[in-house]
Amino acid sequence: MLRVDSMSYAFLERDRAVIGNGLYEMTVSLKDGGLLGLVNKSTGAQYVLSPGKPMIYLWTLLSDKRDSGFFANEGESYKVRTPRKENFAGATSSRDNNLSRLVLKYSFLGGIRVEIEFRAEKGSPLLEARLQMFNGCRDWDRGRVVAVGFPELHGIAIGGSCGDNVLVRPNRFGEKIVDPVEKAGTYTVNLCYGGYASMQWMDMYSRLGGLYLASYDKTLTLCELESEPDLETETMRLGIRKYVYVPPGAAWTSEPYVIGVHTGDWHWAADRYREWAESWMRRPRIPEWLKESDGWYGIGFHHGGKRLYRFRDIPEIFEEAVSLGLNQVQFWGQMAGPCRSCCYRFYYPDPRLGGAEELAKAVRQVRKQGGHVGFYFNIQAFDPMLPRLPENLNKLVPEHVEIPGWDVFRRYAQLHFDGSYVRQYPGRPGADWADGFRIMCPCAQGWRNYLKHWILKYVKEYGADVIYLDQAASPPVTYCFNFEHGHVHHGDVVKCRVELVKEIVEAVARVNPDAVVVVEGNGDAIGQYAHVHLYTSFSTQTRYPCPEVFYYTFPYYVIFDGFANPPTPETIRNHYPDANKELTFEDVLNKIFLLGLRFDLCLYRRLRINDKLAVYFRKVLNLRRKVKNYLVNSRFIDDILLVSRPRLVEAKLFLGEGFLIVTLLDIRVSRSRFKLILNVKPLGFKAVRRALLYTLESEKPLDVDITGGKLVIDVPPLNGLGAIIVEYL
Ligand SMILES: [Zn+2]
Repeated sequence: MLRVDSMSYAFLERDRAVIGNGLYEMTVSLKDGGLLGLVNKSTGAQYVLSPGKPMIYLWTLLSDKRDSGFFANEGESYKVRTPRKENFAGATSSRDNNLSRLVLKYSFLGGIRVEIEFRAEKGSPLLEARLQMFNGCRDWDRGRVVAVGFPELHGIAIGGSCGDNVLVRPNRFGEKIVDPVEKAGTYTVNLCYGGYASMQWMDMYSRLGGLYLASYDKTLTLCELESEPDLETETMRLGIRKYVYVPPGAAWTSEPYVIGVHTGDWHWAADRYREWAESWMRRPRIPEWLKESDGWYGIGFHHGGKRLYRFRDIPEIFEEAVSLGLNQVQFWGQMAGPCRSCCYRFYYPDPRLGGAEELAKAVRQVRKQGGHVGFYFNIQAFDPMLPRLPENLNKLVPEHVEIPGWDVFRRYAQLHFDGSYVRQYPGRPGADWADGFRIMCPCAQGWRNYLKHWILKYVKEYGADVIYLDQAASPPVTYCFNFEHGHVHHGDVVKCRVELVKEIVEAVARVNPDAVVVVEGNGDAIGQYAHVHLYTSFSTQTRYPCPEVFYYTFPYYVIFDGFANPPTPETIRNHYPDANKELTFEDVLNKIFLLGLRFDLCLYRRLRINDKLAVYFRKVLNLRRKVKNYLVNSRFIDDILLVSRPRLVEAKLFLGEGFLIVTLLDIRVSRSRFKLILNVKPLGFKAVRRALLYTLESEKPLDVDITGGKLVIDVPPLNGLGAIIVEYL
């Protein structure tokens, strides 16, 4: 029976426990704690198609003592403990004023006691949950908890089938998967927060309602966002696994988890997550020059195993950037490393390219002309072959430069449960200077000092004013089981990454307040400090890219997108699944313009002024410049307010004080006049002051019509791109 009043309630009744309010109702079995139902009362839709599965699991380590510590067995390192009937220890319910509570109790391994408290509030679509654990297990070898899966929502299919369900996940920039059961095997099940997942939420919805699942965890504990198709029942399991360390004798209380039941699409979920983020996250301090920036021109000093440029070419490369319309150059491969690597991990400027003095001289020349210059660093990887440098470079590095060695740095390295080192690119073909880098723990002070030492040298002594941090908000991200680094949980690595970026940003600002730190990837918490997020939405990271997801949630972050992680024909097509034409790099530029992002023009090779791509880039940049004043003073709202547009014409909206921007991308084969209809009722405007259309060729006034809160815009044929500005009173 559904309760229709808006009060919250929780009660136990025969063999089930119920909690809800006027918007939703969740039902749990009192026999075993399994999830029986979750109903959206606004639409009547039942979300749980395959009921009865447990809502929690634990990972406990299977370990023995060796190498002076307890590490996991080398064969099976942990056991997944899903509760059986005998693990369920009952439930209680209570209610006071507007808040109702349901508590589920479990006991594992004779002493690991878990209590989950759900809280339903009157009128709130968010069902909150907190988990408390005390580990009273006597068996140290088998009783250490190393991960907690909760809330695990099995058997989900909104409206009875996943066929029309859409799964939206924060896979880097964002991902949108229509019919996630049918698409099984074409996307990763787990997204690790801090690497793959840029935020701690996901959403699944259909026209019958949406399910928002989030972790409101200010401690940023490493977690996996799980979305697993169940091919037997044709439903989805949505869950969150946190890497917390709770050995016998210890206790842990989680931060809140949130299950939201809503109508509408993923934007609702993003709005809720932004509200939470804004309740505690600060905004980054963006230097004025970066606000005005249109992007960067990127070059690798070597490419394809060949040395192409030297440091003395930097001023000429900057001139090239200027001729393209950019005033920022970003370099890969400047460090003393192998020619075939863009990204070695010892940062003394390569003596074969000119060494530190030539680099500093070239950078000063660019800075004097008002240009900005950046170099590459990696936030976590180290070469265990050091201090032996590749390609006999030791002979060329000046003697006073200290080369770090693995004998010391092994202490900063991340460990797996079994005590082995975490490797990056193990066995990568051609990486003959090592068998892979080792991932260093961002919590280890020695590692932080090393990285800051080199970054500050570049800013202070060489004059660089852009620091690019590879893998800072990007995979791989893994737990660290070496507690000598001072972390409490092996999942504290994300928190430490954010702290490290904060330290770097602050240290750099003390030398040059206008210097900026760019992170590879994008992340909610890291964006409090980092100035630029490098999106890489055109590389091979998902077949279902939806870069709107992160940008809509955090519209005040500065985002570059483009070429640094190279696009392929297939990855470009992922952005244009319906296009009836051959796709090119021009289509990459168009999409970046459409979303109002800045251009990452890093093709690693030089782009000569008459190259076809360079000519087109200048046209697109010119168009961006015409509307830039509006763009930088507005907020991206995706396609909210858009009522209708023709198929294969994309339109994105930006909202400012008294104006609206609509960017347009027409990918139809024959381009003709079309109508756009926007719902402007929520903006409450009285009249249109003026409306202008900017295209690649011209600008002209537009006729617009408002009737019944709808703005109807008649758009003349476009040569691909356009932008409409509507100023209103
Ligand atoms: Zn560590």
